[in-house]
Amino acid sequence: MGDRVIYELTENGEGTVDEILPRSSELVRPPVANVELAVLVFAVQEPALNLSLLDKFLVHTESSGLETIICLTKQDLISEDEDAGPPAKGEMMSDSLKELVKLYESIGYQVVVTSAKCGIGIDPVLERLAGRISVFAGQSGVGKSSLLNAMVPGLQLETNQISMKLGRGKHTTRHVELIRLTNGGLVADTPGFSTLDFLQIEEAEQLSSCFKEFESYAAECKFRGCLHLHEPGCKVAEAKDQGLIAASRYENYLQFLGEIKDRKRRY
Ligand code: GDP
Ligand code: ZN
Repeated sequence: MGDRVIYELTENGEGTVDEILPRSSELVRPPVANVELAVLVFAVQEPALNLSLLDKFLVHTESSGLETIICLTKQDLISEDEDAGPPAKGEMMSDSLKELVKLYESIGYQVVVTSAKCGIGIDPVLERLAGRISVFAGQSGVGKSSLLNAMVPGLQLETNQISMKLGRGKHTTRHVELIRLTNGGLVADTPGFSTLDFLQIEEAEQLSSCFKEFESYAAECKFRGCLHLHEPGCKVAEAKDQGLIAASRYENYLQFLGEIKDRKRRY
């Protein structure tokens, strides 16, 4: 899927593939070649936004060398009313959404807040997709299909209702398909997946380079190969203590580091 080929047109309008060109990138999961841009799709709620999963996807796209944008969907579900009492579990208020956007923008990611339901934020996403192959990734039920339907006139991807009982989308198995946009872009809409292995990361030391905002601090750590745990003279931990690195990002880094070490122990 996604391979560029040299082909010959035959008389009946069909073609034969002569050669498959070298791949510029290759995603293992989903299996798509030559992807340049990943659109990480997360709902502001329904299902509740999982920052650990977002950071894990970012590690995945950074280690794959993909350009990445974050698309926060279902903006219409945000509560504006700060006086209505404490938010219900999983409910996001507009202030916390603003904080979240600010955090990821400060790291250097474009964040687009959208609502397929109200037609908000569709054009900025479309602009980034023009003329190249992108992949939409995210848990099922976050609104990927709805977003694509809103971008492509006439497209009617099946959207699945969130099962209220489970609080997550029903799993409809679908194969990966490339969807053609009117601006020359091609999009692979991936079947929902909620867990991801660190396929590209072999060594624990590689993880910190996938947390882009750690980089300048990590370069100043006292020890080479510092894992930013409790090493003396660790500038990353120091930056976290000073609020220069978000606590959520640092905690997720530690969690993933643990997962990579566990995996190494198992094999
Ligand atoms: P996918 O599994 O990621 O492709 O998600 P779907 O596009 O199938 O959407 C899952 C559910 O979320 C469906 O019931 C949609 O109607 C709903 N949904 C999608 N986008 C929005 C949105 O912008 N606002 C609201 N309120 N619901 C949405
Ligand atoms: Zn360090």
